[in-house]
Amino acid sequence: MPSLVIWREKNICRNVWENRLSNKFWATKSFREFSEEEWEQICCRCGLCCLVKVQDEDDDEVYYTRVICHLFDCKTKLCKEYKNRCSLVPECLKVTSQNIDKLDWMPKKCAYRILYETGDLPEWHFLKKSNINPPELPENLVYDNMVNDDSLEDYIIEDDKF
Ligand code: SF4
Ligand code: SF4
Repeated sequence: MPSLVIWREKNICRNVWENRLSNKFWATKSFREFSEEEWEQICCRCGLCCLVKVQDEDDDEVYYTRVICHLFDCKTKLCKEYKNRCSLVPECLKVTSQNIDKLDWMPKKCAYRILYETGDLPEWHFLKKSNINPPELPENLVYDNMVNDDSLEDYIIEDDKF
């Protein structure tokens, strides 16, 4: 099960947003120097990490499914229990500056992963653009409490974009 840090602010006032743009903390600081608020701002709220994954026991390959955590709200793209997520869903691993270098199974479009791997945020990220335009979740999502673990394989997303 995925890790997730969700950015909860839905509206950024223009001044705050412009301050963030001029600040560019993500380009001038290392992960470990981020404040908690800065760390949270990196998350683009795509929800891709809340998709259930399965791992091949033979070669450790990770596959994404279109099954999503039952605590994910598909309308707001937020975790319904963000503060208590790790106790309510034990497989939910919190992404931190301490473990980001070990999370190469995170979605390829995860803003944390992109920042870690390239040293910069993607051009579509809201800290670079005025409109928030995160990557899309797959269609026909199913909540994990509706799916038996044994049938997760049937929901694997075949392309490798995740
Ligand atoms: S508990 Fe929340 S943050 Fe964790 S996987 Fe589920 S929806 Fe995502
Ligand atoms: S995949 Fe990354 S950017 Fe997207 S919601 Fe999860 S932690 Fe945030």
